[in-house]
Amino acid sequence: MRSTVLARWATPWLLAAGLAAPAFVHAEEQVVNLYSARHYSTDEALYSGFTKATGIKINRVDADDAGIIARLKAEGEASPADVILLVDAARLYRGEQDGLFRPIRSKALNDAIPANLRSQPTADGGIAWFGLSTRARIIVYNKARVQREDVDTYEELADPKLKGKLCIRSGSHPYNLSLFGAVYEHLGAEATQNWLKGIVANLARDPKGGDTDQIKAVASGECEVAVTNSYYLARLMRSSKPEDVAVANKVGAVFPNQATWGTHVNVAGGAVARYAKHPDNAVKFLEYLATPEAQNYFANGNNEWPAARGIQPDNPALQAMTGGKPFKSENIPVSAVGMHTGAVQQMLDRVGFK
Ligand code: FE
Repeated sequence: MRSTVLARWATPWLLAAGLAAPAFVHAEEQVVNLYSARHYSTDEALYSGFTKATGIKINRVDADDAGIIARLKAEGEASPADVILLVDAARLYRGEQDGLFRPIRSKALNDAIPANLRSQPTADGGIAWFGLSTRARIIVYNKARVQREDVDTYEELADPKLKGKLCIRSGSHPYNLSLFGAVYEHLGAEATQNWLKGIVANLARDPKGGDTDQIKAVASGECEVAVTNSYYLARLMRSSKPEDVAVANKVGAVFPNQATWGTHVNVAGGAVARYAKHPDNAVKFLEYLATPEAQNYFANGNNEWPAARGIQPDNPALQAMTGGKPFKSENIPVSAVGMHTGAVQQMLDRVGFK
């Protein structure tokens, strides 16, 4: 806004003085407008680091994934958004399919982020979105009541042996839609629908609450097994509140399907808005988030794993959760899970998964 004011009073004076485009134009404030679904306070330091390094000021709007997508659609060409950060692969895929992103051409991002953690390239080689951190969708169980071997695959969530023991958030939540989309990719349509039906039959209660609520329900004994993103458990493990640590201590964590197709991994990622008014700044910001320093901070702040190649995370909770070893993650492109979410949603309706 300040730049507009400057230009307005500067122009007549410059014309009168017979001067060409002046220094004022270069003094224009550099900004990037960010729409972010990351609800993690630790990202703040990262944003100020970017401004310090580049002089580009960040204006941020916070909303959830669905809210951001709806807002971009409503705003259309008039949208001030430059960069979009979403926290789920299926939502990133949705944004791409809805034409909300402007394909990115960046050697730095292409080099940093593995191909399976970004969108499929467009015909001319642009990338609609890049994963910037990864999170595993893991199984937690009550250590006093459940044997680890009984819950070390996703398939077992539908096994009748878990009847009345399972807690999970709404099937339509993006984290579950992405997990179910991945299962569809691995097992096919028929097996996936049967699996979902089996999960519904095993529920201890109707789906409600977020992932942390499911972990707490396992600790309290309301259920024995639940599904959660890894960082929610890590957050409890690292909490300064003794009651959170007590919850974490009661549950065991399994990275499912280590003997078969690997644990489902989702991404939080970024894109440039289709109608970005500062597209160069937007790419600079995403490139900054993919640098090693930013990656570690970005991922670690929310107890995630960096998406960029060759970065060794140093997070005590994640180390403890994985036993200090890397776990086997699925190797399907994360862009594939989004393709199935429409079909999965229909299955959820068919099997009565709320
Ligand atoms: Fe989350």
